[in-house]
Amino acid sequence: MKPLCDKYAAKLVAQKICDPGTPIIGGLDADLVWNHDDDRNEELAKVFEGLTINSLVFARPAEPYATIVDFLASRYPGTIRPEDTETRTFLHDIPVADEFSAEAIIKNLKRRKSVIIPGEGIVSYGTVTPEQGFVFYSSTIFSCFVLFFSDYLAAARRGEIDDEYRTVFRKVVAMLPEPRQDIPSFIHEGLGKEDIILEAMAESGRYVVSYGLVDSFFGNISYRHGNTVYISQTGSSLDELKGCIDPCPMDNSTTHGLTASSELSAHEDVYRRADVNCILHGHPKFSVIMSMDCDKVDCPNRGQCHIKCTECRTVEGVPIVPGEVGTGPTGLCNTLPPAIAGPGAAIVHGHGLFTTGVADFEEAFVRMLETENRCRELYFERLKELGESI
Ligand SMILES: [Zn+2]
Repeated sequence: MKPLCDKYAAKLVAQKICDPGTPIIGGLDADLVWNHDDDRNEELAKVFEGLTINSLVFARPAEPYATIVDFLASRYPGTIRPEDTETRTFLHDIPVADEFSAEAIIKNLKRRKSVIIPGEGIVSYGTVTPEQGFVFYSSTIFSCFVLFFSDYLAAARRGEIDDEYRTVFRKVVAMLPEPRQDIPSFIHEGLGKEDIILEAMAESGRYVVSYGLVDSFFGNISYRHGNTVYISQTGSSLDELKGCIDPCPMDNSTTHGLTASSELSAHEDVYRRADVNCILHGHPKFSVIMSMDCDKVDCPNRGQCHIKCTECRTVEGVPIVPGEVGTGPTGLCNTLPPAIAGPGAAIVHGHGLFTTGVADFEEAFVRMLETENRCRELYFERLKELGESI
């Protein structure tokens, strides 16, 4: 258990959502072990007595996330309600506790996957492995980031930004890392062989995560070779894809798809419609934020935009489509493939970005990075148009 606690503490740091030395992860086997000693461990240990869990994650987020989370907690006392897909699928909403105590943590984690304690940090848990706590923690950070920037743009549209928000926003923007422009080196040769395909997919997954274009648990990747689609398994970590890729024949001849990504049918349909051979899917933050920006004041679909939006919106030629996770009638398996076939990129509302490539993953990756960087520029251009300078 200790090595697993260490592993996910290191991943929180590697993904730059926690500073080195800050994550506290406890795991329960025969005994309760911690990744390191801390004077708060005694109080956190009591949480194991009140919940049926086997691991606990607690840390103050790195900046600018700590500032964002504390600001949102003061703005929305009690509960933060982001509207992105990670919240909808995993978190539902994010409770805010009023103090750092086992009692407050237990009360909130009984009904939700994570809890924010203002000024202290975020607590999450796992029932099987510390990986779950890591996923809920990083998802909480993602959702808060998206909400903080979405709310600000929406307030600018209404002309309702107050001085406190403006001050905190400027502080956060000043702490954002520079957008990445450099392109890593990709496998170009030998993509006709299965072992090279698997290696190229694992490599691309690591790049998408290390460039901050997705939190590792989310997103998916596929490669089409002949009539076979190689796709990452559902619930696999994009930066640890070795052994987690399923070959799925496109003729539906076998019972494949049990472990394959839940987006397999969307990927297959893209391959049927377009002469492309690879697909990347991530959750780049500004692409998600821009997909939720809307200038319609009174839209009857408000609140249901992710399913019902009928506006044909684009970001620089990249279409934004509604679509739920999965294969239902309003699923992205129906909305995404026709949208992405032409431009090679499409954003699913409040969810994430899909890109395609013909020869290898570099093309799809470059498209993903450029789209995200352009969305980030566009975000600040829109603010400027609305009279909000940085
Ligand atoms: Zn996704």
